[in-house]
Amino acid sequence: MVYRCARCKQVIEIDTEAGGVRCSYCGHRILLKERGATIKRVNAK
Ligand SMILES: [Zn+2]
Repeated sequence: MVYRCARCKQVIEIDTEAGGVRCSYCGHRILLKERGATIKRVNAK
């Protein structure tokens, strides 16, 4: 999942299954779900 930190506004990709959700830049623990930022890989033709 892709989140945006509520404090420093950095975009962070986090696997929420792994446990703690925390900004890796500033350590803030309130992250907002980032919409439309899904990272997808599409095979180029
Ligand atoms: Zn942050």
